[in-house]
Amino acid sequence: MDRRDFLRTLGVAAAVAGTGLGGTPLPGRTKEKDPDPDPGLHLRFLGTGAADWHGPDARGEHRRFSSVLLDGRILIDYTPSNADMLPGGCKPECVFYTHSHGDHYNPRALVELGVPVAYLNWSWFDRARGNFADASAQTGLPAPVLFPLQIADKTVLGDITITALPANHAVNLTEQTMIYLIEKGPVRLLYATDTGGIPALAARLVGIDSHDREARPITGLIMEATMGMGDEGDEDFRLFTHSSVNTVRHTVNMLLKHKRYRPQEGQPVYVTHFARTLQPVQAVLDATLPAPLKAAYDGLEVVFRA
Ligand SMILES: [Zn+2]
Repeated sequence: MDRRDFLRTLGVAAAVAGTGLGGTPLPGRTKEKDPDPDPGLHLRFLGTGAADWHGPDARGEHRRFSSVLLDGRILIDYTPSNADMLPGGCKPECVFYTHSHGDHYNPRALVELGVPVAYLNWSWFDRARGNFADASAQTGLPAPVLFPLQIADKTVLGDITITALPANHAVNLTEQTMIYLIEKGPVRLLYATDTGGIPALAARLVGIDSHDREARPITGLIMEATMGMGDEGDEDFRLFTHSSVNTVRHTVNMLLKHKRYRPQEGQPVYVTHFARTLQPVQAVLDATLPAPLKAAYDGLEVVFRA
């Protein structure tokens, strides 16, 4: 009997002892949870909308501002609109901000949630420090510890590593917006909102640039499509800072062709950050998005495996 089987036997004994079937609980013998050999990366969409969503629209559709929760403990972006999408009792240990636009960043909401650590690009670190000091003074609650990130910085949080990458998105003349590579075991997920396409430097850092001799393929992709389907031509002025469904489709097709995207079979590419005024309703998206694209929606939970 190997150690794991031995512990499993003890676990059964302890469980039986605890049922009141006549056994006395054995001191020091507790049930050990079997480790999941392939736990995957669990992701919950806390919001899938762009900045023009403020409550349900005339079509009865509603999207909260874009945010995700990783393995129940790490946030990317967070606003008050996402609060009711958190699992009950969830106390995230940190947040990674993409940028300081109000549909991604809300210091007061983070302070009220009690998140103790926030990561953001160094280019707006001083401004964020002031914002969080204000939020702390207004609420009487502690501000999070802030960590400034440079492009290419890797942050290791247990079994998850998050790499800061440049996005193609402007807030002001000095702030660097970021997208993130999330790695857990063999899983390599690129989370790309808000950004107009994938910037070349981000592609290089991830290892999906076709010029790189040693490809490091991603296994998962979440990408924004703020501007709509793109069938009418990507002529919206947001092209400088956002993507369309066609942008995502072209990116995925190119990555597949060059073997830079190697998902587990059947794994969709999730599209998010839908603009209220530019996108059809979820049912139409579900019916019309070309595979492997799939429209995310608020509360959707997915597991990325590789
Ligand atoms: Zn946004």
